[in-house]
Amino acid sequence: MNDLIKKVTQLLDDKTINVFIGYGQGTASRIRTIFVKNSSQVENLVYTSDCTANLAGYLLKHEVKKIGKLGILANDSALRSMMQLASEFQIKDGEVYVLHAAKDGSFTEFADFQSIEAYLVTIDTGITSDEQERIAKLEAMTVKERWIFWNKEFEKCIKCYACRAACPMCYCHRCTTDVNQPQWIPVASHEQGNLDYHLMRAMHLAGRCVNCGECANACPMDIPLNLLTYQLIAPIRTTFDATAGMKADAVYALSTFKPDDKENFII
Ligand code: SF4
Ligand code: SF4
Repeated sequence: MNDLIKKVTQLLDDKTINVFIGYGQGTASRIRTIFVKNSSQVENLVYTSDCTANLAGYLLKHEVKKIGKLGILANDSALRSMMQLASEFQIKDGEVYVLHAAKDGSFTEFADFQSIEAYLVTIDTGITSDEQERIAKLEAMTVKERWIFWNKEFEKCIKCYACRAACPMCYCHRCTTDVNQPQWIPVASHEQGNLDYHLMRAMHLAGRCVNCGECANACPMDIPLNLLTYQLIAPIRTTFDATAGMKADAVYALSTFKPDDKENFII
């Protein structure tokens, strides 16, 4: 922890960065995100086993970007998010100062995207055993059972959009959900509109989700949204041999065209 405090103090003092995105103590023993702008605030940084949130979502928030050069305490999910954001031309190499937080509490500096990519191929990017179990249950269902399951989950949605705000890949300046001329998706929380919102969001995340779980963690109604986007990872991997968030210059599988595409999905 002292190493982190020393490093961030130095980065702020020598103006390498203008703000550092890290973890701090929130209310009721909760950990929250903090934005450290000068060395007098550095002591507010904490790093414990509860600091698991993916902070990469803040890198594109207008309110944070306008402060100046950013530094971030990135866990594995945040690193993957950054690679995906880079491949979508949302961040550039050298634009963000990256300190990586390992699970053992040590901190490493990543000089460039290449070193992040080299690290990512050495780690397990899969999901937890609990999530695997839940996915296996979903996959064992018939299509009709799965449809009923998700409709029941989506009925609980109160359209607070915390899932969208927490997701590092939901960064459109104007989401389809907010367009009202024409109104593609009903605003009120009701069965049809909720289904529209969640199916639209899942399709926009197909092949882009880095399975960080932030959407599900943010949901006040405990809807396991990450399982839905996770289920779209496997088809993209097997069909296009693509995994989100591993390379800064990856080409997005669903936005390319190859003349020799098998096209065997067209009946
Ligand atoms: S798990 Fe959820 S929050 Fe994380 S990238 Fe996927 S859709 Fe976004
Ligand atoms: S966070 Fe949960 S309740 Fe809020 S919009 Fe997303 S799914 Fe609905």
